[in-house]
Amino acid sequence: MYLAEADVVIVGVGPTGLSAALAVARKGRSAVIVDSGEDQSVGSRAITIHAGTLRVLEQLGCVERILAEAAKISAMQTRNPRSVLSTARFDSLPGKYPFAATLPQTRTQALLRAAANEAGVRFVPGRAVGIEQDDGGATVALEGGATVRGRFVIGADGMHSTVRVAVGIGYPDTGGSRGDHENMVLADVVPSGPVDRSRAIFLTARSGVLGLVPLPLGRLRVIANLADGARADTVDAVQRLIDERWQPVANGGRVRIEEVVWSARFRFRHHLADSFRAGRVLLAGDAGHVHSPAGGQGMNLGIRDAWYLASTLAAATDAEDSGRPADVEPLLDAYAANRRAVAAKVIEATNQIGRVMFVPTPLRPFLHLAFRAAALAGASQKQALALSGILDTGPHTLLEPVQVP
Ligand SMILES: Cc1cc2nc3c(=O)[nH]c(=O)nc-3n(C[C@H](O)[C@H](O)[C@H](O)COP(=O)(O)OP(=O)(O)OC[C@H]3O[C@@H](n4cnc5c(N)ncnc54)[C@H](O)[C@@H]3O)c2cc1C
Repeated sequence: MYLAEADVVIVGVGPTGLSAALAVARKGRSAVIVDSGEDQSVGSRAITIHAGTLRVLEQLGCVERILAEAAKISAMQTRNPRSVLSTARFDSLPGKYPFAATLPQTRTQALLRAAANEAGVRFVPGRAVGIEQDDGGATVALEGGATVRGRFVIGADGMHSTVRVAVGIGYPDTGGSRGDHENMVLADVVPSGPVDRSRAIFLTARSGVLGLVPLPLGRLRVIANLADGARADTVDAVQRLIDERWQPVANGGRVRIEEVVWSARFRFRHHLADSFRAGRVLLAGDAGHVHSPAGGQGMNLGIRDAWYLASTLAAATDAEDSGRPADVEPLLDAYAANRRAVAAKVIEATNQIGRVMFVPTPLRPFLHLAFRAAALAGASQKQALALSGILDTGPHTLLEPVQVP
Protein backbone atom coordinates (compact mmCIF):
# COMPACT_ATOMS: atom_id res chain seq x y z
CA MET A 1 0.00 0.00 0.00
CA TYR A 2 1.58 3.27 -1.15
CA LEU A 3 1.13 6.60 0.63
CA ALA A 4 1.19 8.23 -2.81
CA GLU A 5 1.74 7.19 -6.41
CA ALA A 6 2.68 9.37 -9.40
CA ASP A 7 4.37 9.38 -12.77
CA VAL A 8 7.36 11.03 -11.14
CA VAL A 9 8.39 11.07 -7.48
CA ILE A 10 10.84 13.80 -6.58
CA VAL A 11 12.88 13.61 -3.38
CA GLY A 12 13.91 17.06 -2.08
CA VAL A 13 12.11 20.37 -1.98
CA GLY A 14 15.09 22.64 -2.76
CA PRO A 15 15.18 24.75 -5.95
CA THR A 16 15.98 21.68 -8.05
CA GLY A 17 13.19 19.45 -6.70
CA LEU A 18 10.61 22.24 -6.86
CA SER A 19 11.55 23.10 -10.46
CA ALA A 20 11.41 19.43 -11.45
CA ALA A 21 8.02 18.86 -9.82
CA LEU A 22 6.59 22.03 -11.34
CA ALA A 23 7.89 21.11 -14.80
CA VAL A 24 6.48 17.56 -14.58
CA ALA A 25 3.06 18.93 -13.57
CA ARG A 26 3.09 21.56 -16.33
CA LYS A 27 3.79 18.81 -18.83
CA GLY A 28 0.57 17.14 -17.76
CA ARG A 29 2.13 14.35 -15.70
CA SER A 30 1.53 13.69 -12.00
CA ALA A 31 4.25 14.70 -9.56
CA VAL A 32 4.74 13.91 -5.87
CA ILE A 33 7.50 15.66 -3.95
CA VAL A 34 8.86 14.20 -0.73
CA ASP A 35 10.87 16.24 1.72
CA SER A 36 12.29 15.66 5.16
CA GLY A 37 11.83 19.35 6.03
CA GLU A 38 15.27 19.62 7.60
CA ASP A 39 16.39 22.48 5.35
CA GLN A 40 13.73 25.04 6.26
CA SER A 41 15.94 27.67 7.86
CA VAL A 42 19.04 27.69 5.70
CA GLY A 43 18.59 31.23 4.47
CA SER A 44 19.65 33.37 1.56
CA ARG A 45 22.40 31.16 0.00
CA ALA A 46 22.34 31.29 -3.84
CA ILE A 47 21.46 34.77 -5.08
CA THR A 48 22.27 34.99 -8.79
CA ILE A 49 19.87 33.79 -11.46
CA HIS A 50 21.53 33.88 -14.85
CA ALA A 51 19.95 34.43 -18.28
CA GLY A 52 19.98 30.73 -19.26
CA THR A 53 18.07 29.87 -16.07
CA LEU A 54 15.61 32.73 -16.66
CA ARG A 55 14.84 31.06 -20.00
CA VAL A 56 14.00 27.86 -18.12
CA LEU A 57 11.97 29.75 -15.49
CA GLU A 58 9.98 31.20 -18.38
CA GLN A 59 9.13 27.62 -19.46
CA LEU A 60 8.08 26.99 -15.84
CA GLY A 61 5.73 30.00 -15.93
CA CYS A 62 7.71 31.62 -13.09
CA VAL A 63 9.91 34.22 -14.68
CA GLU A 64 7.57 37.20 -14.21
CA ARG A 65 7.07 36.62 -10.52
CA ILE A 66 10.81 36.16 -9.99
CA LEU A 67 11.75 39.28 -11.95
CA ALA A 68 9.09 41.28 -10.10
CA GLU A 69 11.08 40.76 -6.88
CA ALA A 70 14.65 40.50 -8.18
CA ALA A 71 17.34 43.14 -8.70
CA LYS A 72 19.14 43.19 -12.06
CA ILE A 73 22.87 43.52 -12.60
CA SER A 74 24.47 44.40 -15.91
CA ALA A 75 28.03 43.15 -15.35
CA MET A 76 30.53 41.32 -13.15
CA GLN A 77 33.76 43.20 -12.63
CA THR A 78 37.06 41.71 -11.45
CA ARG A 79 39.56 44.19 -10.07
CA ASN A 80 42.57 44.83 -7.88
CA PRO A 81 42.88 47.90 -5.63
CA ARG A 82 44.32 50.00 -8.43
CA SER A 83 42.46 48.99 -11.56
CA VAL A 84 39.71 47.02 -13.25
CA LEU A 85 41.04 43.75 -14.69
CA SER A 86 38.00 42.52 -16.58
CA THR A 87 34.30 43.22 -16.97
CA ALA A 88 32.00 40.40 -18.03
CA ARG A 89 29.04 42.34 -19.44
CA PHE A 90 25.66 40.67 -19.14
CA ASP A 91 23.99 43.65 -20.81
CA SER A 92 25.47 42.65 -24.15
CA LEU A 93 24.23 39.05 -23.98
CA PRO A 94 22.06 37.97 -26.90
CA GLY A 95 18.45 36.95 -26.20
CA LYS A 96 15.62 38.15 -24.04
CA TYR A 97 17.48 38.50 -20.73
CA PRO A 98 20.52 40.79 -21.12
CA PHE A 99 21.26 40.89 -17.37
CA ALA A 100 21.65 38.63 -14.33
CA ALA A 101 18.90 38.72 -11.70
CA THR A 102 19.63 38.56 -7.98
CA LEU A 103 17.23 37.25 -5.34
CA PRO A 104 17.83 35.33 -2.09
CA GLN A 105 17.34 31.59 -2.56
CA THR A 106 14.61 31.58 0.11
CA ARG A 107 12.46 33.83 -2.12
CA THR A 108 13.24 31.89 -5.30
CA GLN A 109 12.18 28.70 -3.51
CA ALA A 110 9.04 30.31 -2.08
CA LEU A 111 7.97 31.48 -5.56
CA LEU A 112 8.71 28.07 -7.11
CA ARG A 113 6.77 26.38 -4.31
CA ALA A 114 3.73 28.63 -4.84
CA ALA A 115 3.80 27.84 -8.57
CA ALA A 116 4.16 24.09 -7.88
CA ASN A 117 1.13 24.22 -5.56
CA GLU A 118 -0.91 25.99 -8.21
CA ALA A 119 0.15 23.39 -10.81
CA GLY A 120 -1.18 20.55 -8.62
CA VAL A 121 2.06 19.07 -7.29
CA ARG A 122 1.41 16.92 -4.23
CA PHE A 123 3.72 17.51 -1.24
CA VAL A 124 4.41 14.54 1.08
CA PRO A 125 6.40 15.12 4.28
CA GLY A 126 8.89 12.37 5.00
CA ARG A 127 12.53 11.34 4.93
CA ALA A 128 13.55 8.96 2.15
CA VAL A 129 15.61 6.09 3.53
CA GLY A 130 15.78 3.62 0.65
CA ILE A 131 14.70 2.73 -2.88
CA GLU A 132 13.72 -0.46 -4.67
CA GLN A 133 13.35 -0.66 -8.43
CA ASP A 134 11.51 -3.05 -10.75
CA ASP A 135 10.66 -3.03 -14.46
CA GLY A 136 7.72 -0.64 -14.06
CA GLY A 137 9.00 1.90 -11.56
CA ALA A 138 10.75 2.63 -8.28
CA THR A 139 9.45 2.64 -4.71
CA VAL A 140 10.87 5.10 -2.20
CA ALA A 141 10.80 3.93 1.43
CA LEU A 142 10.21 6.67 4.00
CA GLU A 143 11.29 6.72 7.61
CA GLY A 144 8.50 5.14 9.67
CA GLY A 145 7.58 2.53 7.05
CA ALA A 146 5.42 4.37 4.49
CA THR A 147 6.31 4.16 0.79
CA VAL A 148 5.82 6.37 -2.27
CA ARG A 149 5.96 4.97 -5.79
CA GLY A 150 6.77 6.55 -9.15
CA ARG A 151 7.38 5.32 -12.67
CA PHE A 152 10.53 7.39 -12.30
CA VAL A 153 12.26 8.90 -9.26
CA ILE A 154 14.32 12.08 -9.21
CA GLY A 155 16.97 12.41 -6.51
CA ALA A 156 17.03 16.19 -5.85
CA ASP A 157 17.97 15.71 -2.21
CA GLY A 158 21.15 17.75 -2.20
CA MET A 159 24.82 17.09 -1.67
CA HIS A 160 24.33 14.34 0.93
CA SER A 161 21.70 12.63 -1.27
CA THR A 162 20.16 9.51 0.25
CA VAL A 163 18.78 8.61 -3.18
CA ARG A 164 22.23 8.64 -4.75
CA VAL A 165 23.64 6.45 -1.98
CA ALA A 166 20.63 4.08 -2.09
CA VAL A 167 21.20 3.31 -5.78
CA GLY A 168 24.96 2.97 -5.32
CA ILE A 169 26.22 5.95 -7.35
CA GLY A 170 29.62 7.28 -6.23
CA TYR A 171 30.26 11.02 -5.63
CA PRO A 172 34.03 11.43 -5.66
CA ASP A 173 35.88 14.64 -4.94
CA THR A 174 36.98 15.93 -8.35
CA GLY A 175 40.16 17.49 -7.01
CA GLY A 176 40.94 20.77 -5.40
CA SER A 177 41.72 24.22 -6.50
CA ARG A 178 43.55 27.11 -4.87
CA GLY A 179 41.35 28.52 -2.11
CA ASP A 180 39.95 25.22 -0.87
CA HIS A 181 41.42 25.77 2.58
CA GLU A 182 39.88 29.26 2.86
CA ASN A 183 37.20 30.11 5.43
CA MET A 184 34.67 31.87 3.18
CA VAL A 185 32.07 34.15 4.76
CA LEU A 186 28.83 35.52 3.34
CA ALA A 187 26.68 38.35 4.69
CA ASP A 188 23.52 39.97 3.30
CA VAL A 189 23.62 43.52 4.62
CA VAL A 190 21.73 46.81 4.49
CA PRO A 191 24.30 49.42 3.40
CA SER A 192 24.15 53.19 3.16
CA GLY A 193 26.41 55.54 1.23
CA PRO A 194 27.61 55.23 -2.36
CA VAL A 195 26.93 51.64 -3.47
CA ASP A 196 27.13 50.75 -7.17
CA ARG A 197 23.89 48.81 -7.72
CA SER A 198 24.52 48.08 -11.38
CA ARG A 199 27.23 45.45 -11.11
CA ALA A 200 28.81 42.70 -9.03
CA ILE A 201 32.40 43.47 -8.04
CA PHE A 202 35.12 40.98 -7.07
CA LEU A 203 38.27 42.48 -5.67
CA THR A 204 41.59 40.89 -4.76
CA ALA A 205 43.07 43.13 -2.06
CA ARG A 206 46.28 42.58 -0.11
CA SER A 207 44.35 41.29 2.90
CA GLY A 208 42.06 39.00 0.91
CA VAL A 209 39.22 38.82 -1.56
CA LEU A 210 35.96 40.73 -1.37
CA GLY A 211 32.82 40.34 -3.45
CA LEU A 212 29.94 42.83 -3.44
CA VAL A 213 26.71 41.85 -5.21
CA PRO A 214 23.60 44.07 -5.24
CA LEU A 215 20.41 42.46 -3.92
CA PRO A 216 16.78 43.61 -3.95
CA LEU A 217 15.42 45.92 -1.21
CA GLY A 218 18.63 47.96 -1.32
CA ARG A 219 20.66 45.13 0.22
CA LEU A 220 24.11 43.91 -0.66
CA ARG A 221 25.71 40.43 -0.53
CA VAL A 222 29.24 40.61 0.89
CA ILE A 223 31.57 37.64 0.19
CA ALA A 224 35.08 37.38 1.61
CA ASN A 225 37.74 35.06 2.94
CA LEU A 226 38.64 35.48 6.62
CA ALA A 227 40.96 33.81 9.10
CA ASP A 228 39.84 30.36 10.23
CA GLY A 229 36.92 30.49 12.64
CA ALA A 230 36.11 34.18 11.91
CA ARG A 231 32.59 35.17 10.86
CA ALA A 232 30.95 38.19 9.23
CA ASP A 233 27.82 38.10 11.35
CA THR A 234 27.93 41.52 13.02
CA VAL A 235 27.81 45.08 11.68
CA ASP A 236 31.30 45.71 13.08
CA ALA A 237 32.81 42.63 11.43
CA VAL A 238 31.39 43.49 7.98
CA GLN A 239 32.24 47.20 8.38
CA ARG A 240 35.86 46.22 9.09
CA LEU A 241 35.96 44.18 5.88
CA ILE A 242 34.51 47.03 3.83
CA ASP A 243 36.83 49.64 5.37
CA GLU A 244 39.90 47.49 4.88
CA ARG A 245 39.26 46.03 1.41
CA TRP A 246 36.72 48.27 -0.34
CA GLN A 247 37.19 51.79 1.04
CA PRO A 248 40.66 52.29 -0.51
CA VAL A 249 39.09 51.60 -3.92
CA ALA A 250 35.67 53.25 -3.59
CA ASN A 251 34.98 56.70 -4.92
CA GLY A 252 32.51 59.13 -3.42
CA GLY A 253 32.44 58.47 0.30
CA ARG A 254 32.30 55.71 2.87
CA VAL A 255 29.96 52.74 2.51
CA ARG A 256 28.39 52.11 5.92
CA ILE A 257 26.87 48.86 7.07
CA GLU A 258 23.59 49.48 8.88
CA GLU A 259 22.40 45.92 9.48
CA VAL A 260 23.43 42.30 8.87
CA VAL A 261 20.31 40.44 7.72
CA TRP A 262 21.86 36.97 7.22
CA SER A 263 25.32 35.45 7.32
CA ALA A 264 26.98 32.07 6.79
CA ARG A 265 30.37 30.41 6.39
CA PHE A 266 31.45 27.72 3.96
CA ARG A 267 34.43 26.04 2.32
CA PHE A 268 34.71 25.17 -1.34
CA ARG A 269 33.65 21.64 -2.23
CA HIS A 270 33.74 19.88 -5.59
CA HIS A 271 32.12 16.53 -6.22
CA LEU A 272 30.62 14.96 -9.34
CA ALA A 273 28.40 11.87 -9.35
CA ASP A 274 29.84 8.92 -11.30
CA SER A 275 26.54 8.75 -13.18
CA PHE A 276 23.31 10.76 -13.19
CA ARG A 277 21.22 7.63 -13.68
CA ALA A 278 20.68 4.17 -12.20
CA GLY A 279 17.73 2.50 -13.95
CA ARG A 280 14.60 4.54 -13.32
CA VAL A 281 16.27 6.75 -10.74
CA LEU A 282 17.89 9.98 -11.96
CA LEU A 283 19.87 12.70 -10.20
CA ALA A 284 19.62 16.47 -10.52
CA GLY A 285 21.10 19.50 -8.73
CA ASP A 286 23.54 19.18 -5.83
CA ALA A 287 22.77 15.45 -5.63
CA GLY A 288 24.77 15.19 -8.86
CA HIS A 289 27.30 17.98 -8.57
CA VAL A 290 28.69 20.49 -6.12
CA HIS A 291 31.36 23.13 -6.63
CA SER A 292 32.46 26.54 -5.39
CA PRO A 293 29.78 29.26 -5.61
CA ALA A 294 32.15 31.41 -7.70
CA GLY A 295 30.16 32.81 -10.61
CA GLY A 296 26.88 31.79 -8.92
CA GLN A 297 26.39 28.54 -10.81
CA GLY A 298 25.11 25.89 -8.33
CA MET A 299 21.41 26.66 -8.11
CA ASN A 300 21.33 27.69 -11.78
CA LEU A 301 22.66 24.34 -12.90
CA GLY A 302 20.18 22.55 -10.61
CA ILE A 303 17.16 24.41 -12.03
CA ARG A 304 18.29 23.70 -15.59
CA ASP A 305 18.96 20.01 -14.76
CA ALA A 306 15.43 19.88 -13.34
CA TRP A 307 13.71 21.23 -16.41
CA TYR A 308 15.70 19.08 -18.83
CA LEU A 309 15.01 16.02 -16.69
CA ALA A 310 11.28 16.72 -16.40
CA SER A 311 11.11 17.19 -20.18
CA THR A 312 13.01 13.92 -20.66
CA LEU A 313 10.70 12.03 -18.29
CA ALA A 314 7.58 13.48 -19.96
CA ALA A 315 8.92 12.14 -23.28
CA ALA A 316 9.79 8.77 -21.65
CA THR A 317 6.31 8.31 -20.12
CA ASP A 318 4.74 9.29 -23.47
CA ALA A 319 6.92 6.67 -25.19
CA GLU A 320 5.86 3.96 -22.70
CA ASP A 321 2.19 4.90 -22.95
CA SER A 322 2.21 4.80 -26.72
CA GLY A 323 3.91 1.39 -26.98
CA ARG A 324 7.44 2.63 -27.77
CA PRO A 325 9.39 1.32 -24.74
CA ALA A 326 12.58 1.04 -26.79
CA ASP A 327 12.71 4.86 -26.95
CA VAL A 328 13.03 5.21 -23.18
CA GLU A 329 16.63 4.06 -22.61
CA PRO A 330 18.21 6.49 -25.12
CA LEU A 331 16.23 9.39 -23.65
CA LEU A 332 17.37 8.67 -20.09
CA ASP A 333 20.96 8.02 -21.15
CA ALA A 334 21.07 11.29 -23.11
CA TYR A 335 19.92 13.23 -20.03
CA ALA A 336 22.53 11.56 -17.81
CA ALA A 337 25.40 12.08 -20.27
CA ASN A 338 24.51 15.69 -21.08
CA ARG A 339 24.08 16.87 -17.48
CA ARG A 340 27.21 15.13 -16.22
CA ALA A 341 29.29 16.69 -19.00
CA VAL A 342 27.83 20.17 -18.37
CA ALA A 343 28.45 19.83 -14.61
CA ALA A 344 32.07 18.71 -15.20
CA LYS A 345 32.66 21.87 -17.27
CA VAL A 346 31.11 24.09 -14.60
CA ILE A 347 33.29 22.49 -11.90
CA GLU A 348 36.39 23.19 -13.97
CA ALA A 349 35.29 26.78 -14.67
CA THR A 350 34.60 27.52 -10.99
CA ASN A 351 37.97 25.97 -10.02
CA GLN A 352 39.58 28.29 -12.55
CA ILE A 353 37.93 31.32 -10.88
CA GLY A 354 39.26 30.04 -7.53
CA ARG A 355 42.79 29.77 -8.97
CA VAL A 356 42.59 33.40 -10.10
CA MET A 357 41.01 34.77 -6.91
CA PHE A 358 43.59 33.15 -4.64
CA VAL A 359 46.71 33.53 -6.74
CA PRO A 360 49.78 33.94 -4.45
CA THR A 361 50.82 37.59 -4.01
CA PRO A 362 54.18 37.33 -5.90
CA LEU A 363 52.36 36.05 -9.00
CA ARG A 364 49.69 38.77 -9.05
CA PRO A 365 51.46 41.20 -11.44
CA PHE A 366 51.77 38.39 -14.03
CA LEU A 367 48.14 37.45 -13.56
CA HIS A 368 47.07 41.05 -14.04
CA LEU A 369 49.02 41.29 -17.30
CA ALA A 370 47.42 38.05 -18.45
CA PHE A 371 44.00 39.48 -17.58
CA ARG A 372 44.57 42.57 -19.69
CA ALA A 373 45.76 40.51 -22.68
CA ALA A 374 42.78 38.16 -22.30
CA ALA A 375 40.36 41.10 -22.07
CA LEU A 376 41.73 42.46 -25.36
CA ALA A 377 41.13 39.03 -26.91
CA GLY A 378 37.45 39.11 -25.87
CA ALA A 379 37.77 36.72 -22.91
CA SER A 380 35.49 38.86 -20.69
CA GLN A 381 32.61 38.46 -23.12
CA LYS A 382 33.22 34.73 -23.42
CA GLN A 383 33.09 34.59 -19.62
CA ALA A 384 29.74 36.45 -19.57
CA LEU A 385 28.37 33.97 -22.10
CA ALA A 386 29.66 30.97 -20.13
CA LEU A 387 28.32 32.25 -16.78
CA SER A 388 24.93 33.09 -18.29
CA GLY A 389 24.24 29.45 -19.24
CA ILE A 390 22.39 30.51 -22.40
CA LEU A 391 24.36 28.01 -24.45
CA ASP A 392 23.28 25.18 -22.09
CA THR A 393 20.28 23.97 -24.06
CA GLY A 394 20.18 20.47 -22.57
CA PRO A 395 20.03 17.06 -24.22
CA HIS A 396 18.41 17.06 -27.69
CA THR A 397 18.59 20.90 -27.55
CA LEU A 398 15.41 21.08 -25.49
CA LEU A 399 15.52 24.86 -25.51
CA GLU A 400 15.68 26.89 -28.71
CA PRO A 401 19.38 27.83 -29.22
CA VAL A 402 20.20 31.52 -28.76
CA GLN A 403 21.97 33.01 -31.80
CA VAL A 404 25.36 34.28 -30.67
CA PRO A 405 26.76 36.96 -33.01
C1 LIG B 1 26.09 28.84 2.77
C2 LIG B 1 25.79 28.53 1.33
C3 LIG B 1 25.90 29.54 0.39
C4 LIG B 1 25.65 29.28 -0.96
N1 LIG B 1 25.80 30.29 -1.86
C5 LIG B 1 25.56 30.05 -3.16
C6 LIG B 1 25.69 31.08 -4.15
O1 LIG B 1 26.00 32.24 -3.84
N2 LIG B 1 25.45 30.76 -5.45
C7 LIG B 1 25.09 29.49 -5.84
O2 LIG B 1 24.84 29.24 -7.03
N3 LIG B 1 24.97 28.51 -4.93
C8 LIG B 1 25.18 28.75 -3.61
N4 LIG B 1 25.03 27.77 -2.72
C9 LIG B 1 24.62 26.44 -3.22
C10 LIG B 1 23.14 26.38 -3.46
O3 LIG B 1 22.48 26.76 -2.26
C11 LIG B 1 22.81 24.95 -3.88
O4 LIG B 1 23.49 24.71 -5.11
C12 LIG B 1 21.33 24.71 -4.06
O5 LIG B 1 20.62 24.83 -2.85
C13 LIG B 1 21.12 23.27 -4.57
O6 LIG B 1 19.76 23.03 -4.68
P1 LIG B 1 19.20 21.53 -4.62
O7 LIG B 1 17.71 21.70 -4.72
O8 LIG B 1 19.90 20.70 -5.63
O9 LIG B 1 19.59 20.97 -3.19
P2 LIG B 1 19.23 21.54 -1.72
O10 LIG B 1 18.95 22.99 -1.76
O11 LIG B 1 20.31 21.03 -0.84
O12 LIG B 1 17.85 20.83 -1.37
C14 LIG B 1 17.79 19.46 -1.03
C15 LIG B 1 16.47 19.17 -0.34
O13 LIG B 1 16.40 17.76 -0.10
C16 LIG B 1 15.87 17.53 1.20
N5 LIG B 1 16.37 16.22 1.64
C17 LIG B 1 17.64 15.86 1.89
N6 LIG B 1 17.71 14.55 2.23
C18 LIG B 1 16.44 14.08 2.15
C19 LIG B 1 15.85 12.80 2.36
N7 LIG B 1 16.58 11.73 2.69
N8 LIG B 1 14.51 12.67 2.21
C20 LIG B 1 13.73 13.73 1.86
N9 LIG B 1 14.25 14.96 1.65
C21 LIG B 1 15.58 15.13 1.79
C22 LIG B 1 16.36 18.71 2.04
O14 LIG B 1 15.50 18.94 3.14
C23 LIG B 1 16.29 19.85 1.02
O15 LIG B 1 15.05 20.49 1.04
C24 LIG B 1 25.27 27.98 -1.37
C25 LIG B 1 25.13 26.98 -0.42
C26 LIG B 1 25.38 27.25 0.93
C27 LIG B 1 25.24 26.14 1.93
